[in-house]
Amino acid sequence: SLRAIVIGSGVAGLASAVRLVLQGIEVTVFEKNNYPGGKLSHFEMNGYHFDSGPSLFTQPENIEELFESAGENIYDYFEYAAVDVACKYFYEDGTKLTAYTNKEKFAKELAEKINEQPQNIQQYLQQSANLYNNIGTVFLNHSLHKKSSLFKAPLGKAVTTVRWNYLFGTLNSVNKASFTDERTVQLFNRYATYNGSNPYKAPGMLSLIPHLEYNQGTYYPKGGMISITNSLYQLALKKGIKFEFNRPVQRIINSEGKVKGVVVNNKNIPADIVVSNMDVYGTYKYLLNDNSKANQLLNQERSSSAFVFYWGINKTFDELGLHNIFFSKDYKAEFESLFAYKKFYNDPTVYINITAKCEPGIQAPTGKENWFVMVNAPANVGQDWKAYQQQYRATIIAKLNRLLQTDIEPLIESEQILDPVLIEERTASYMGSLYGTSSNSRIAAFLRHPNFTNKIKGLYFAGGSVHPGGGIPLCLKSAKIMSELVKEDIKKWRH
Ligand code: FAD
Repeated sequence: SLRAIVIGSGVAGLASAVRLVLQGIEVTVFEKNNYPGGKLSHFEMNGYHFDSGPSLFTQPENIEELFESAGENIYDYFEYAAVDVACKYFYEDGTKLTAYTNKEKFAKELAEKINEQPQNIQQYLQQSANLYNNIGTVFLNHSLHKKSSLFKAPLGKAVTTVRWNYLFGTLNSVNKASFTDERTVQLFNRYATYNGSNPYKAPGMLSLIPHLEYNQGTYYPKGGMISITNSLYQLALKKGIKFEFNRPVQRIINSEGKVKGVVVNNKNIPADIVVSNMDVYGTYKYLLNDNSKANQLLNQERSSSAFVFYWGINKTFDELGLHNIFFSKDYKAEFESLFAYKKFYNDPTVYINITAKCEPGIQAPTGKENWFVMVNAPANVGQDWKAYQQQYRATIIAKLNRLLQTDIEPLIESEQILDPVLIEERTASYMGSLYGTSSNSRIAAFLRHPNFTNKIKGLYFAGGSVHPGGGIPLCLKSAKIMSELVKEDIKKWRH
């Protein structure tokens, strides 16, 4: 049978391995860390549990479909449930909004608190659904880079159903045209950060993202986000996939335009198929020694990174929920600082995730809360992150004290941090970017590296830095698209 090697066990690496083994291919995963999951990992500190990276789970159908394809019942592996509040929002002017996932309730909340017309919300979310159903599904579920798949995808029809502004305006301009209140605009501009982009530059098309939260729903996996990694890993083991941890791949071997295997521990390991789940930049630069292609990839701006404080908080806060946002006063200036100046910004938007809200006494000791406190940070270009750490910490504490009328500092009884350099070190994500490249141009999404290369047959790519994009749902889709390309290629090879 054919042999495949998957480089990296991020969520897309795990899903890729499963999809290939289901095609009767023998699969080995090489992972440089001593744990699976890449950015989707977990740690415990003095009784507080933390998901290190992602905290928002949408579109469970991607993972459901994977388990179904594998002939397994997903509920034997993990449980998850829809939550009824997408996020709690806090503004510097004292406004507090609860974003219910129920559209009518959400529209009512905005009408009552900030006088936004309910029909504006309803129309926007309807348009968001249309965009997703007409364009999103085509774009996100197909390779786009092969004539055959483009032909199969009804893209021509999809594009004609979209209003001009969504293709040629920015997300901010679409939102400004849709809402009367600046606070609603800011709330919906925030969705650009779901793929590490700037709403003042990214295309209006990103207004399809709220569809995932308000029309489809957001979910909480029991045990936290790590349950997603654990379930994929257990599924992979059950299907007979071999894992080699602490084994960084050093090179991808290829000759005459065909992949031959990889080098691990200075030994050649043969394979017919190699899937790289490593950041595509590093794959070209370090594993293929192709500097010119690596540099070409940098023509596209990298997505933003993050600065995270993991705090064990010796108190519970009734007004907080699972997801909370404390907005900056000047959102535009914040994004300019993030992308144009790549500097510390003195009033960052603060995100707090508290899984103890869903599992009190389990995710944190009773009467306490596990706070995952994140701000968007610029991509790593060698800033003084130690100095930034002090500055972020001080400004975050001041902002929370102001907006929650509290004194946070004495409540922090345990602390760890994650900065862009650590993200880069742990997952080989170039510049510590969370989502590979940003969508800060109209065609950026179409410029992402495809899931294959014509130059080296048998080499494929899956993960947040390639098509269709970063974040858990898209990483899972990326693995599926990749495996469909493999299936078609194998048919061709056999003929
Ligand atoms: P990664 O997780 O990047 O893993 C790649 C793996 O490859 C790593 O394990 C690495 O060690 C391994 N590797 C690299 N090079 C080699 C090599 N040469 N040999 C062997 N192994 C190698 N997404 C969401 O959907 N929702 C969120 O709320 C969200 N929030 C986030 C918050 C933070 C702080 C971070 C960091 C990310 C967040 N994301 C979120 C993004 C999401 O985590 C990623 O898009 C996704 O997990 C990336 O998965 P991946 O498969 O591309 O690989």
